[in-house]
Amino acid sequence: MDAKELVHKAQNVMVCSHINPDGDTLGSMLGMYHVLTAAGKYVQRACHNTTPPQFTFLPGHEGVGPDLPDRDWDLIICHDASDIQRFGSVYEQHRDLFERVPSICIDHHVTNSGWATVNLIDTSASATAEMVYYFARELGYPISKDAGTCMLTGIFTDSGSFQFTSVTARTLRAAADLVEMGAPLPDIAYETWRKKTFASARIWGAALEGLHLSPDGRYCWSAVTQDMLRQHAATFNELEGAVSHMSGIAGPSIVALFKEEGPDEVDVSFRSMDDTDCTVVAVKFGGGGHKKAAGCTVHAPLAEAERQILAEVAKLVGSREPVPA
Ligand code: AMP
Ligand code: MN
Ligand code: MN
Repeated sequence: MDAKELVHKAQNVMVCSHINPDGDTLGSMLGMYHVLTAAGKYVQRACHNTTPPQFTFLPGHEGVGPDLPDRDWDLIICHDASDIQRFGSVYEQHRDLFERVPSICIDHHVTNSGWATVNLIDTSASATAEMVYYFARELGYPISKDAGTCMLTGIFTDSGSFQFTSVTARTLRAAADLVEMGAPLPDIAYETWRKKTFASARIWGAALEGLHLSPDGRYCWSAVTQDMLRQHAATFNELEGAVSHMSGIAGPSIVALFKEEGPDEVDVSFRSMDDTDCTVVAVKFGGGGHKKAAGCTVHAPLAEAERQILAEVAKLVGSREPVPA
């Protein structure tokens, strides 16, 4: 059965977004939620986390979370996740479901492993939400203003506010259609891009102040520790967007941002400023992403994670070994 048939036949659908959800995974999942609900299906919004505060303007966000009712699911639709581990507890607690129930994965990551029953992968799409929009049209289901708002949020956030090289005429056509359906672009831009808490402005400042440049200027990096978060009463959520801002730095090929999640857990975000492929380093540490934006998690203390990652970054950009951080 193809993806369209699976959706048309399904009555009880679980839609999923990835752990530490961003605008694309949430916008895609909630867009699909609105479309399928309006088509008369029962739809559950599954995510390892509840909706982060900056996305609570999204219609339908309130039902997002890890608790699943016992139900006879006939389809799982996963959004924006290159492998199944990205669903965190939703997968860990319900492995049997993922084995038993047919799944559709809608994704645009080059590192996608093709883990689902049916994989809709388009690495040329600016966002999974762009794919969701065209898929919803193919399904023949109406797209409400709420659905459109969610989808446009996914496109807007993952395309760097329509600035990235991933933006095509097809992206802009989807966005134009969604605006025509009532999706409020200025509100989405304010909510996801300009609006900041005070703590967020402060932690961005700390991350920018902590930037280091390699001696030969080929790469740069910064680290945000738990101490820094405490000092500014901030969360990592409030650091969202900072690394993309850093990718505007002219000169170096790549920037790495280290986030000390715990004593032995460091999340790393990579952005490349030129043709450098970030996934080369991310994949070596079990992560993934896109050529120009990738990430991974290193299970080591911050100093050790920095040492290991920067050694690989230096190799990638043909630089000498980094100075110890
Ligand atoms: P971020 O730096 O968190 O904004 O992530 C940039 C890109 O890398 C996104 O497209 C993510 O999907 C991907 N990514 C980040 N962390 C991971 C990870 N641990 N595993 C796989 N992909 C990741
Ligand atoms: Mn994502
Ligand atoms: Mn995405």
